[in-house]
Amino acid sequence: MTGPAAAAGLDAPASAARSAGFHPGAERGRLPAPGDLALPVTGAKLLTDADGRPLRVADLPADTDWVPLGTLDGVPGWATDLTTAGTLPGRARGWASLAAEVPEPHAALASRALAVITWRRTHRWCGACRAELTDKPGETARRCPDCGLYVPMQLSAAVLVAITRPGPAGRADELLLVRHATGPTGLWALVAGFVEAGETLEAAVHREVGEEVALSVDRLAYFGSQPWAISGPGVLLAGFTARAADPHAEPVVDGRELTEARWFGVDALPAELPPAYSISRWLIDATMTAARR
Ligand SMILES: [Zn+2]
Repeated sequence: MTGPAAAAGLDAPASAARSAGFHPGAERGRLPAPGDLALPVTGAKLLTDADGRPLRVADLPADTDWVPLGTLDGVPGWATDLTTAGTLPGRARGWASLAAEVPEPHAALASRALAVITWRRTHRWCGACRAELTDKPGETARRCPDCGLYVPMQLSAAVLVAITRPGPAGRADELLLVRHATGPTGLWALVAGFVEAGETLEAAVHREVGEEVALSVDRLAYFGSQPWAISGPGVLLAGFTARAADPHAEPVVDGRELTEARWFGVDALPAELPPAYSISRWLIDATMTAARR
């Protein structure tokens, strides 16, 4: 910012806003300080204190190899890959149980720690010439010292969609929910799937809806997004709402990926819904709220 407002310091709230919450990054040249946040990863779990809060760098041995994650409320966070959590302080837990308890920015930091460490574990060697990769300072990326291959951390995009249709005469709208053949099979979830290379998010929604439940949708609208640390490293979920193109069409499942798909009145949803910290649930709750207006 330039001009009188900047001279009067009126841009201070903006910089305060920038430091609040979680901001991913890998600042070049910064070194871990004892009071910085520490997110040790052991297998697919994170080590936290007994209350689920991040440990501090000083809680771990001085020779720990730290990887920058960004900042949480202005405090730098660092991850490290531990092979054993046996002798270290804290409690090892998966992202799902952590995200259910801690505020969203903490869950986002934890999600990034798991994603970055998992990615580093699986990107040790150059895929072109087999040399050992080195870190690229200031970025979450690696580079091959021999052939120069640049290996940035990549995200997988996935879409999910809350499909509604008008309820029977005088009744509330209905929402389509599905049950999966693998994972939490008891849960009623939304139609979802990974985006293919060369495909837009919107096209992915139409394709997944056709493949999974053999329906067509229109009035597709973007809802929001969430980094997701459960289905793999670096997954970004993009949520949409849509309307069934034919309000009388019934879903058909293939029995392999999905075992069931049903319309539910939004005033009579099942109890087995996705957890409160998930964008699936935010979409379902928003759909219920919209239908009651
Ligand atoms: Zn190479």
